[in-house]
Amino acid sequence: MLRLFSRTVPSLSKILLAKFSSIPAPKTSPEILYTGIFINNEWHKSIRGNIFPSLNPSNEQVIAQVQQGGKEDVDLAVAAARDAFGLGSPWRRMDASKRGQLLYKLADLLERDRVYLASLETLDNGKPYFMSYNVDLPMAINNLRYYAGWADKNHGKVIPMDGEFFAYTRHEPVGVCAQIIPWNFPILMAAWKFGPALATGNTVVLKPAEQTSLTALYMAQLTKEAGFPPGVVNVVPGYGDAGAALVEHNDVNKVAFTGSTEVGKKIQQGSGCSNLKKTTLELGGKSPNIILADADMKHAVETSHFGLFFNMGQCCCAGSRTFIEDKIYDEFVERSAERAKKRTVGNPFDLTTEHGPQVDKAQFDKILDLIDTGKKQGAKLVAGGYRYEGLPGYFIQPTVFADVEDNMTIAREEIFGPVQQLIRFKSLDEVIERANDTDYGLAAAVFSTDIDKVNYLVQGLRAGTVWVNTYNVLSAQTPFGGYKMSGHGRENGEYGLQAYTEVKSVITRIPVKNS
Ligand code: NAP
Ligand code: MG
Repeated sequence: MLRLFSRTVPSLSKILLAKFSSIPAPKTSPEILYTGIFINNEWHKSIRGNIFPSLNPSNEQVIAQVQQGGKEDVDLAVAAARDAFGLGSPWRRMDASKRGQLLYKLADLLERDRVYLASLETLDNGKPYFMSYNVDLPMAINNLRYYAGWADKNHGKVIPMDGEFFAYTRHEPVGVCAQIIPWNFPILMAAWKFGPALATGNTVVLKPAEQTSLTALYMAQLTKEAGFPPGVVNVVPGYGDAGAALVEHNDVNKVAFTGSTEVGKKIQQGSGCSNLKKTTLELGGKSPNIILADADMKHAVETSHFGLFFNMGQCCCAGSRTFIEDKIYDEFVERSAERAKKRTVGNPFDLTTEHGPQVDKAQFDKILDLIDTGKKQGAKLVAGGYRYEGLPGYFIQPTVFADVEDNMTIAREEIFGPVQQLIRFKSLDEVIERANDTDYGLAAAVFSTDIDKVNYLVQGLRAGTVWVNTYNVLSAQTPFGGYKMSGHGRENGEYGLQAYTEVKSVITRIPVKNS
């Protein structure tokens, strides 16, 4: 059955390619309309008068100067969010179903401006336009619609309490939520954060990553157009100090963070030091992708390629340790190297481009350093391994290492770039132990046609998501988050509501009438 499935269903990248032919042309120079700080539904300048540049990573040109939010701007934004959360405010008085309608409207506006937003994302982040258009935008829109539907359904329970009491729970918003997001999926991460927070009636202050503020700022304007009252959504672009000011702020009730484990640790500490605000953290990974000898070879090679190189390897759940059963190892290596060499790299606005630049110089340098370390520590380079000479921008060749050992730096550190590690294994128990031998636990995958082996591996792997015969499949409905140092809490799905909800028990005495 699985074989039949994999023969008749094209690979993920073919599905994506098939859609490319029909997508509307990008705007290669989208007008940049919003570069300010968005507070109370108005655009502000930085109080200290600071600005910072946003670059196009394909050519290193400055595309915009953005207002740099600092502590004073964060204070203003938090005060606006606090006021908007006040009892009796339009937002607190609004029917839950109306909150849902506003989220549906926001989704519709994203859909209306899909070409523009996908183009702006590509310009600012460097990801291929067909990805921005076919993956980031539809996923963001779906997420907002999914949570719009939850707005009037996140209800409590009546509880059969002992004694003469009537007990029920109310699900209430947590309050002012700080949301700090990374640069790898800028608009999608903004939607993942806004959706559950606004559906449940919170107010938010979002800080986008400094590399990629532009689509979140445009989305801020769309929240105003959708009709969200002033102060419900605030967006403060800036550097890590603006994020830290949010984390330490005593009027913030919750922090939701996606980014590096290193900063995640600081956030947890910072939140604890101020007012013990709640935190959810979605951090890094070094996800194992396990290929058994009975897997469909062609499908496993292609999907593992996609599982690592998608978004130029800049994915927290990238399958960056590919474990391949001994019997098929050599063939898998050969085919993976061939596939990586065929990957089309270049101008991200060109519809045939699969692979654009890394997001910035710091990431570019870090990845090239790790590639050098791999070579020095004895891994065998079978594809790529260098920057693209002659191209401006932060382009790195799709790189594949074979004969990777578990203790090599490239098998332990999150590379966050287009570098695939191919590792040999012999038995199921051995591979479970080696796959789990990491501080991370975000995702894992298994490729096999033997259901018993699949189930054995699935229960043994310590990861928040395990894919079987597929990779990088995420949806608004299914929870996503990490074990161990990949974070805590879950985003998406019904589980994603919990992080934004306080549970209140209401216990009422029922006097007993004697006659
Ligand atoms: P990062 O530093 O963790 O940045 C993520 C977000 O946190 C950004 O908005 C950042 O602002 C902000 N931030 C930085 N320091 C902060 C602080 N002390 N308090 C509050 N907020 C703070 O990630 P990065 O430097 O962009 O990337 C470094 C590595 O992180 C990557 O190589 C990769 O391994 C990992 N990463 C993981 C994910 C993921 O999805 N899990 C995403 C991106 C990166 P700035 O814009 O000023 O940095
Ligand atoms: Mg940029």
